[in-house]
Amino acid sequence: MIYETHAHYSRFRFDDDFDAWKAENGKLSYERFTRESLFAAMKESGIACFIEPSIEFDNIPLQIELAKKYPDFIRLAIGVHPKRAVCTKWKNRKAWERYIRDCNAVAVGETGLDYSMPRKNQRRFMQKMWFKYQIKLADELCLPLVLHIRKADDDAIKILEKFKGKLHGGVAHCFNGDLETAKRYLSLGFYIGVGGMILNDGEWSDGLKNAVKNIPLDKILIETDSPYVAPEEVGDEVTKSKRKKVRNCSLILPIILNKIAEIKGVTAEQVEKATYENAVKLFG
Ligand SMILES: [Zn+2]
Repeated sequence: MIYETHAHYSRFRFDDDFDAWKAENGKLSYERFTRESLFAAMKESGIACFIEPSIEFDNIPLQIELAKKYPDFIRLAIGVHPKRAVCTKWKNRKAWERYIRDCNAVAVGETGLDYSMPRKNQRRFMQKMWFKYQIKLADELCLPLVLHIRKADDDAIKILEKFKGKLHGGVAHCFNGDLETAKRYLSLGFYIGVGGMILNDGEWSDGLKNAVKNIPLDKILIETDSPYVAPEEVGDEVTKSKRKKVRNCSLILPIILNKIAEIKGVTAEQVEKATYENAVKLFG
């Protein structure tokens, strides 16, 4: 059984029919789906359930509606994504809290810091304000955090360390750092979320691969961040313009499992079993 720990299927990109990546005999190919047929294919390929974290305030009702339709398949994390925090009204936080309590969210997120855009657009003060607020809220509700940290590990870890003792675990989602950074998250009680980045080649991915090789299997979760973070290494038979249109989806998880197994020198079955148990431990 596979536990997808990060995907955004309530997004409009899955509203009509669409092409999405899937694993076929260990290779990537794509197929046309609707949201319904994709969920059926996910269940058939052994995906037991997925976590859908919030990105923005206005999308939360859609998340809740979708989770109601598939109660055994979807669990929600509710929060403010750092990129959206900068344009979210501070007074909305009470409504967030209501949403979290009403929909039995299993985590707060995604939340964190994102310094990947130009400095003038980052509005770090706002990002930090929302991040700290969500850490406190997660403590109040005894919930784990789904962390979104981009190019901001030092600042994020500094903030998290200030709240040490008030943290209830969580995951550093779409982790793309090195072993040292991974260890810092582990020491704060976080799991490491490994997704499609691990499939990319090139020197810049060596740090991530070394981290995955050396962190214990009982600290790893798998995810895709669908429809985002689509795999880059696809056979030449798919044209570049086509690649841009194909959605990422959870059907590529078997390839991610295989890659982690190869890096760690274990079987894909061992990775599947461990990451499933880790996710159950964290999210239920
Ligand atoms: Zn995400």
